[in-house]
Amino acid sequence: LNLLLQFSRIDSMTGLYNLCTFKSVMEKELALARRSGKPLVLIMADLDNFKSVNDSEGHQSGDNVLRQVAQIFNDNLREMDIAGRYGGDEFIFGLPETDIVSAIEITERIREKVEAIFCDHSATTLSIGLASYPGAGTSLETLITAADRALYEAKSTGKNRLKAAQS
Ligand code: C2E
Ligand code: C2E
Repeated sequence: LNLLLQFSRIDSMTGLYNLCTFKSVMEKELALARRSGKPLVLIMADLDNFKSVNDSEGHQSGDNVLRQVAQIFNDNLREMDIAGRYGGDEFIFGLPETDIVSAIEITERIREKVEAIFCDHSATTLSIGLASYPGAGTSLETLITAADRALYEAKSTGKNRLKAAQS
């Protein structure tokens, strides 16, 4: 039963939290942040040119790219950080007790790793939008909306980059 429970909380392709689990874990983290007055950053990340990987190299290659990217997240985030799959080629993270300056360093580290690992094939990169609590939003929904807008800006200004929402 435990195993079944665990599987239903996790995205089977990547091993990251599914969106529903991510949201419930983040609601708790937000409640903690409200109490402690500590910052928190919510991040949305989307693979660039992923559709062309799927189209030209096949879905199995596409799936491998998603798994490798998830592995990069796991290897480069702290255990207390929260990483989930938003859907498709989109990912979502929460960094508790982290300010926006540190969050930019962390996501830049991840962006560089993704760029390096796929540079000779697939040519996939990562666009990233960040939103910090409480400056860019105080609820999960407003933070997701702000991070999503920042991600859109990262995409529309050339991809393979980070943008932080105004706070
Ligand atoms: P740094 O790598 O320049 O990180 C600066 C600050 O960014 C860290 O300060 C921390 O507040 C935040 N940070 C960096 N990576 C993460 C992360 O994956 N998740 C979260 N939530 N926050 C992160 P801090 O904790 O005082 O660490 C100072 C320095 O100590 C780090 O500078 C790094 O050089 C080293 N360090 C600490 N923990 C680790 C670790 O687990 N692995 C490695 N390789 N270095 C570490
Ligand atoms: P962890 O805290 O779960 O961090 C997992 C991985 O996230 C680290 O693997 C590193 O790749 C990345 N990471 C986390 N925090 C930082 C950071 O501040 N800066 C940088 N550059 N990378 C970071 P790593 O380095 O192999 O460390 C494995 C585990 O060893 C860490 O797991 C943590 O439990 C411990 N550790 C390593 N260095 C430090 C340190 O300086 N201070 C503390 N308190 N623990 C450390």
